[in-house]
Amino acid sequence: MSLPGLVILGATGSVGVSTLNVLAANPGRFRVTALTAYRNHERLFSQCEEHRPEFAVLVDRDAAKQLSGRLADAGIPTQVLSGERALVEVVELPQVERVMAAIVGAAGLLPTLAAARAGRQLLLANKESLVMAGHLLMQAVTKGGGELVPIDSEHNAIFQCLPGDEDARKGVRRLILTASGGPFLDTPVEALAAMTPDEACAHPKWRMGRKISVDSATMMNKGLEIIEACWLFDMPPERVDVMVHPQSIVHSMVEYADGSVLAQLGCPDMRTPIAHALGWPQRIHSGAPWLDLATAGPLEFRAACETRFPCLRLAREAARTGGTHPAVLNAANEAAVAAFLDGRTAFTDIAAVVEQVLEATPAQEVESLEHILAVDAAARQAAAGVIDGLSGGRA
Ligand code: NAD
Ligand code: MG
Repeated sequence: MSLPGLVILGATGSVGVSTLNVLAANPGRFRVTALTAYRNHERLFSQCEEHRPEFAVLVDRDAAKQLSGRLADAGIPTQVLSGERALVEVVELPQVERVMAAIVGAAGLLPTLAAARAGRQLLLANKESLVMAGHLLMQAVTKGGGELVPIDSEHNAIFQCLPGDEDARKGVRRLILTASGGPFLDTPVEALAAMTPDEACAHPKWRMGRKISVDSATMMNKGLEIIEACWLFDMPPERVDVMVHPQSIVHSMVEYADGSVLAQLGCPDMRTPIAHALGWPQRIHSGAPWLDLATAGPLEFRAACETRFPCLRLAREAARTGGTHPAVLNAANEAAVAAFLDGRTAFTDIAAVVEQVLEATPAQEVESLEHILAVDAAARQAAAGVIDGLSGGRA
């Protein structure tokens, strides 16, 4: 029997590497059809050496040439493709059954959408694609006839706590997303403006890529996750709550009409939700440590503070407004986070940039993919103007 073909979009990133670790813990269970990355040819070469994919994609053409040369020298028969279009081509290959969508940011939208349209089982880590184009992506999943299994730990937890039967879902009252609170949960608010990129990326519980680490520090990550949950589980934003839980052991909860609350627990290790999604509906080994509640220490829960974390308020407002506003929020945030990571803005400017761009951009009904891409480009341009104004004012 031939093994299901798997494509990992964003193989060299934090989620991509964890996915390959889960595959290594389950030898002979999956076949890697393609691994993709932006330009990290060194890491992609090592991954090709170990996992022997049929195809490797690097968006950057020079990096693809380097990879191609090294693979040929090493006698590894992986075929190298380059350019953005190749990301779409590999998910459409007929031997592919599953696609791990783990590119960071809006760059993940087109290949993720292509995987949904082609009816692949979509393991979705790239939350930004749902935030930008939730309606289009969910529609593509339905039309394509594949399934979507969430990888984001909170959404994977909720997926596990929800009944499979649609009718039984009527008994759900509320979804409760847990949030670690990030590295600045107890930092005095006056000190936040001086926080550096390295401090913002030093997450107390999770090792992740830099963009999502900054999003966790501003709690925009939780805001994006509210929007993600609304699309994934067909919930209005008023019924998605956030609760701070610094230990990151309870990954999220579902509250039912009868007062029951179901939660999924585990060590904070992305290999668990990844293994859940790869094995689903069966269970497979993840390589993550076992949870020992007797030694884990007390589990705390507290309300999330939107004054300390204005990005959470902005995302909630964008979720309520709907239409193109979540895409505007996402694009302005990506531009502001990139500027912060480059040392061009202060940490607290991220929320200010997003707020100004949202205020200057009226929400519209989403018409098409082209419309969303145009809204995304315009919001990035507006954000660049705000960022220039802020850094000019400070210089
Ligand atoms: P990362 O920065 O570590 O890795 C990103 C990957 O995407 C890399 O392989 C990179 O080469 C590729 N990439 C970047 N820009 C690209 C572009 N323009 N075109 C094609 N490929 C590109 O990111 P990550 O932390 O692994 O996060 C990936 C996604 O998963 C994000 O959407 C994030 O929100 C989500 N997520 C991550 C975690 C986590 O623990 N890291 C948890 C939940 C959700
Ligand atoms: Mg998450």
